[in-house]
Amino acid sequence: MLRSTEGVRIEAAPRTRRPARVARERSTPTLLGKTALVTGSTSGIGLGIAKALAAQGAHVVLNGFGDVEAARLETLRAGKPHRGRVMHHGANLACPSEIEAMHRAACEAFGGVDILVNNAGIQHVAPVEQFPTERWDAVLAVNLTASFHTTRLVLPAMRQKNWGRIVNVASVHGLVASAEKSAYVAAKHGLVGFTKVVALETARTDVTCNAICPGWVRTPLVEKQIEARSAKSGLSMDAAQDALVSEKQPSGAFVSIEELAGLAVFLCSDAARQVRGVAWTMDGAWTAQ
Ligand code: NAD
Repeated sequence: MLRSTEGVRIEAAPRTRRPARVARERSTPTLLGKTALVTGSTSGIGLGIAKALAAQGAHVVLNGFGDVEAARLETLRAGKPHRGRVMHHGANLACPSEIEAMHRAACEAFGGVDILVNNAGIQHVAPVEQFPTERWDAVLAVNLTASFHTTRLVLPAMRQKNWGRIVNVASVHGLVASAEKSAYVAAKHGLVGFTKVVALETARTDVTCNAICPGWVRTPLVEKQIEARSAKSGLSMDAAQDALVSEKQPSGAFVSIEELAGLAVFLCSDAARQVRGVAWTMDGAWTAQ
């Protein structure tokens, strides 16, 4: 019988037979002592990535709106074995001065940012000629321009340390388009382009910059689109969800948050040192068509 740090009794696995050295290597956290800033991490993919980075030993700066305390506790729990620390900053990423304040707060709390995950994103769906101009500005500000500001702020210290990882959460919509998503598609294509430029500018350093391009992931952002489809078509929520996924994603299944978080952890690892400037799809073969 084993006992976890939270006092929960765990049955020992029946005779796994793995040599002790291998078992120890596997459990070594890869990001011990690093600090990760994950934007839009109070929910969905960002929260999943924040927890996965904490589980690898990183201190985490959370950002975003909504249930901040739940996100903080979940991330703290993930980092508990490594005494990982977690703070939240509520910067509105549409506002450059608030991004600067968040960066200052992260540096004051943790001495700098080693890993930057530009994840926050919003969506608005409408045909171009009916697209509200203020929604266009908001989608571009949060999904694209904020990543320019965070990146320009963290890069000097990353260069000085000669270590850094920047992971931009783009989308399949950074590579292909869908009707009625003009601002989102423009922003995500822009983010993929920005990723390549940063990768080129840092190519001679141990700072890398890559993009992740997920297909459908069931998060609050997509929940709203399922609800809209259900309301428009009269389909049940389950049927609307199936229709939404199978329309574009040949696997017929959602990409999970845990799968994406695993990819983000890999991109932050030393093994990914020469992965630079990629737009790495995880999309159930959406863009293979
Ligand atoms: P989500 O709605 O669950 O989370 C979005 C996060 O961003 C939240 O924490 C929210 O508080 C935060 N946020 C929104 N506006 C903000 C602002 N102005 N300032 C600061 N924080 C803000 O969404 P998600 O589905 O987890 O999306 C995360 C990222 O993944 C986005 O960039 C999205 O475009 C991308 N993505 C999602 C999917 C999908 O199917 N869910 C697919 C491809 C790409």
